Amino acid sequence: MLKEGTMGFETLKFAGEEVAALKKENRFLRPRVLESAQEPVSVIDGKKVVNLTSNNYLALANDPKVKKAAIEAIEKYGVGSAAVRTIIGTMSLHKELEEKFAAFKHAEASILFQSGFTSNVAVCQSLMSTDQDLLISDELNHASIIDGARLARSPRKIYRHKDVKHLTEILESPEARKARRKMVVTDGVFSMDGDVANLDEIVDVCHRYGAFVMVDDAHASGVIGKEGRGTVSHFGLDGKVEIQIGTLSKAFAAVGGYAATTRDLRDYLGSVARPFLFSSSQPPSVAASCLAVLDILLSDPSYLKRLWDNTAFFKEEMKKAGFDTGESVTPITPVMIGDMDKAKALSARLFDEGVFALPLGFPTVPKGKERLRTIVTAGHTVKDLEFAVEKFRKCGKELGVI
Ligand SMILES: *Cc1c(COP(=O)(O)O)cnc(C)c1O
Repeated sequence: MLKEGTMGFETLKFAGEEVAALKKENRFLRPRVLESAQEPVSVIDGKKVVNLTSNNYLALANDPKVKKAAIEAIEKYGVGSAAVRTIIGTMSLHKELEEKFAAFKHAEASILFQSGFTSNVAVCQSLMSTDQDLLISDELNHASIIDGARLARSPRKIYRHKDVKHLTEILESPEARKARRKMVVTDGVFSMDGDVANLDEIVDVCHRYGAFVMVDDAHASGVIGKEGRGTVSHFGLDGKVEIQIGTLSKAFAAVGGYAATTRDLRDYLGSVARPFLFSSSQPPSVAASCLAVLDILLSDPSYLKRLWDNTAFFKEEMKKAGFDTGESVTPITPVMIGDMDKAKALSARLFDEGVFALPLGFPTVPKGKERLRTIVTAGHTVKDLEFAVEKFRKCGKELGVI
């Protein structure tokens, strides 16, 4: 008898054991399935629920104008580039998006990648390329920065979360003083807690010690700063941050990533960054979608206003209901639970009641910091949010969370 899940391969028997171990540690993941477009109220696993889980900040993932731009790009340019950028995968829409994003970020140039993840990997690996370089990273930076640091040839140092004193100590260390290049990397908005990096202080200390800064604005672009330009704009640091990374997969509703920087650095990355050289470019429809989102963002302030009104309303109501919503100052609102079994139980109960909020545990967040992470979007109505808070209140009481 073939054992189900093995196809009879003795050589892969370990996979079943690994899965069993993950299940025992509460780390096994089986994602729910989205059966509608990504909407404030979505159909998930056959059920209509208020969706508090996507990064669709501006609620543009299913917007008619954005879809029209994508469809027109498909009609004109086809479905894919069928080449990497450096062969013949650079299409006019990619160039247009790079130029517009450079302007959006007040940078000389920008370079597109296939995702935010690959953008971080590309920059860390390309710039931290010898053992004389030094990569210095906040302890709560995103996994793609950690993996970028692993692919870099340089040593790395980790500073305590947003601790500029600790960062300064590292910059003063003999190792940092003799480094050829020093790059300090931080998330702009931290994805699990929704807090914002103290970028003004970081930039100040970096420039005093001859380090350059890379900020990953995945959760900040299209969300904070003037017209959603990100943390650099939020702190009034235009022209003072060397590298701004962003994703096109969250507020920008499609998929992709970019680095906005100097023209020279863009030119350098365009000749050496491995994801740029060895993985094909975004489909033209994706670039067209992002261009359409950028147009909306720059011409219609109502999306950002609704996003922030909803954020303030939801945080306030959840606090009133008695939940610990952490230190967030952004549309990311963690609901702290402190125990994975309980977080999962609460998420499951909420789902029964018509609300989807994802439970997160180790290793995504530290042990003891298990939580439900919620994100409101510009598309939620006050009614959606009131409904969600009411269900949180009901299920939270049932499970003894509040
Ligand atoms: C989501 C995220 C990424 C990855 O972006 P993708 O475009 O989804 O690959 C990178 N950095 C941070 C901080 C993120 O939150």
